[in-house]
Amino acid sequence: MRVIVIGAGIGGLAAKLTLRRCGIDVEVFEQASELREVGAGIQISPNASRILHRLGLEEPMRRLGVRPQAVVFRRWDDGRELARQPLADAAERDFGAPYYHFHRADLLDILSAAVPRRVLHLDHRRVGLSQHNDRVEVQFHNGASADADVVVGADGIHSTVRNAVMGPESARFSGHVAYRGLVPADRVAHLGVEVAAIAWWGPGHHFVHYYVGAGGRYHNWVAVTPGEWRVESWTAKGEVSDALREFEGWHPQVRAIIGAVETTNRWALYDRELLPRWTVGRVTLMGDAAHPMLPYMAQGAVQSIEDAAVLAKCLERADSQDVSAALLRYEQTRKPRASRCQEGSRRNGIMYHLADGEDQRKRDANLASATTAPLPQNAWLYGHDVEAEFSR
Ligand SMILES: Cc1cc2nc3c(=O)[nH]c(=O)nc-3n(C[C@H](O)[C@H](O)[C@H](O)COP(=O)(O)OP(=O)(O)OC[C@H]3O[C@@H](n4cnc5c(N)ncnc54)[C@H](O)[C@@H]3O)c2cc1C
Repeated sequence: MRVIVIGAGIGGLAAKLTLRRCGIDVEVFEQASELREVGAGIQISPNASRILHRLGLEEPMRRLGVRPQAVVFRRWDDGRELARQPLADAAERDFGAPYYHFHRADLLDILSAAVPRRVLHLDHRRVGLSQHNDRVEVQFHNGASADADVVVGADGIHSTVRNAVMGPESARFSGHVAYRGLVPADRVAHLGVEVAAIAWWGPGHHFVHYYVGAGGRYHNWVAVTPGEWRVESWTAKGEVSDALREFEGWHPQVRAIIGAVETTNRWALYDRELLPRWTVGRVTLMGDAAHPMLPYMAQGAVQSIEDAAVLAKCLERADSQDVSAALLRYEQTRKPRASRCQEGSRRNGIMYHLADGEDQRKRDANLASATTAPLPQNAWLYGHDVEAEFSR
């Protein structure tokens, strides 16, 4: 079985590892001339960290990741704690694997260091794709071409693989803009921020922050605001003063963390309607190409790692002449769960941003009274092992 993966983001790199582990010959083609992640954080919950640990990555993950003690929700103005879900040892005990916070560059390094460079082709932008009875052929902008039994589009929310096999369709602008910042942790040490994922909810806005980097060297924050600015780019600059203006009247700790950066990046937030299907013939999709979601459950990359695990298990015993049953099983296994995250993330965008009033009071009361699974992200999500059904 030979597989081509288009795109070397977190999803594509994870697929490279899971497919190789299953003895599948895999090559990854990436348009960028070097693998680079932005200076920002990412949360990896136990449902994905268990998969990465099984790939032999536990040592660097424990070394470079931060294990938050809890997820904490706070009110925007007075900081009152609305809910707290313990993580760290509790996550490992209840869900069987750690909850991590990473600097994105560290996570990308961990994933890319694990496989030989000869199967990763940089500076290869996919421009053509043709399906034949027995294979798929891919053309690249530099004149190169390659063929395989299966092609996987891991090329992100604006996937051209998806457009090529399913026709063009636009992403949906959410009306939200994320400002992002990364602060050396000692610059905010005087605030005594606990090692946790802390989310502050307020009218039309929310603010999330946590430590990243080995030993928690940095403090990472994301501030979500309403907006009409529609550029999706990890490198587009935003003004710190604009971010502060959006959080006028918020708790002093929120404003102090925003104010601790010299520069901030801005990112317009998009998702898509659920796709009717992910697979056409020998071509399938994964990660943001298949199920782009708003970041309000911190599951986009996590779900792409689940995709990688299931895809490899489905292809492991497949016949290279007839891959359709295997790709269908992959899609049928993954779609309900990824769709639930897409829809849940949209709902959270409404729930987090309620204006003070009756609905907000109901939300807070529900959170306070739920004792066992108080959060939208709970056991069905973190406790599920997508590889388990394949070992039976
Ligand atoms: C503010 C914010 C916070 C987030 N926080 C979290 C979080 O805490 N936890 C979490 O799990 N997720 C989080 N996410 C979501 C997560 O970042 C994405 O879901 C994830 O990175 C998607 O990975 P991917 O590999 O599918 O796609 P991408 O990372 O988009 O990778 C696609 C790759 O394909 C390449 N490519 C594109 N077109 C071509 C082509 N034609 N030829 C070759 N290569 C091509 C691109 O260069 C890129 O390298 C967050 C997102 C945002 C915006």
